[in-house]
Amino acid sequence: MKPNEGLVIAIDGPSASGKSTVSRQVAQALAFIYVDSGSLYRGMTWKAVQSGVDVRDAEAVVRMMNESKWEFFIEERVVYFQIDGVDPRDFLRKEAVRERVSDVAAIPEVRRFIVARLREMSDFGSIVMEGRDIGSVVFPETSWKYYLDADPEERARRRFKELQVSESAACVQSVKDSLLRRDHKDTTRATAPLQIALGAKVVNTTNMGIDDVVQMIVSEVNRSNG
Ligand code: C5P
Repeated sequence: MKPNEGLVIAIDGPSASGKSTVSRQVAQALAFIYVDSGSLYRGMTWKAVQSGVDVRDAEAVVRMMNESKWEFFIEERVVYFQIDGVDPRDFLRKEAVRERVSDVAAIPEVRRFIVARLREMSDFGSIVMEGRDIGSVVFPETSWKYYLDADPEERARRRFKELQVSESAACVQSVKDSLLRRDHKDTTRATAPLQIALGAKVVNTTNMGIDDVVQMIVSEVNRSNG
C-alpha cells in the first residue's frame, strides 16, 4: 500500500459483534493507529463513578467533564489517555462502568466533547477507529465504513467467554440480557444512535472467523490504495 496520510477506517457495530478484535488486527496488518472510541465513553463513566457523580444527573456529569483534563498518547500504535493524570485503562471493563456507560454516552454534551477528541485523532496519521457512530457522525466522509453484526446468541456467547477470563460471569442468559439492554439504549437514544452509516458495508460475523473478516477489510483497503 502507498503511504496515505490520514486514511480513516470506521468500524461500527453493537457490543460483542467482533469489532474490537477485527479493528485491532486490521490496524496491526496495515500499521495504522488503533482507536477504541468506546474507551473514551467508558473513561468518562469511570471518572463519574470515581467522583461520586450520579450518571443520571446529566448536569453534574457535564460539570465534572468540563473540569476534567484529558491527555492522549500512543503506545505501540494504540491510543490511550489519562484523565486528571490517571490512566484508567484497567477499570474500563468493570461492571460499575459497563452498567452505566450507555447513560453517560446518551448525554449530548458528552458526545460533543468526545466526538471532537476523536476527530483530532486523525492528526496521529492513518487510523482504524471502532465504535457506534464513527461512520455516521465522527468521520462520515471516509470511504472506509464497516458495520459488523452477529446474532445476539453468538454475541452473548463471545462476551461470556471474555468475562469468564476477567471476572466470574453469572450465565450466558444474564450476559445476553445485559448486552440487549445496552443495545436498546444505544439504538434508541436521541443523539447519534447506533445505526448503519450511509455507505457502510454490513458484515454479519456470526459464522465467520475473525481472520476472514480482517482479511476481507485489509485486502479491500490494499486493493484501492495499492
Ligand atoms: O464499544 P464499547 O462496548 O466499549 O462501548 C461502550 C459504550 O459506549 C457503548 O455501549 C455505547 O453506549 C458507548 N459508545 C458510543 N459511541 C461510540 C462508542 C461507544 O455511544 N462511538
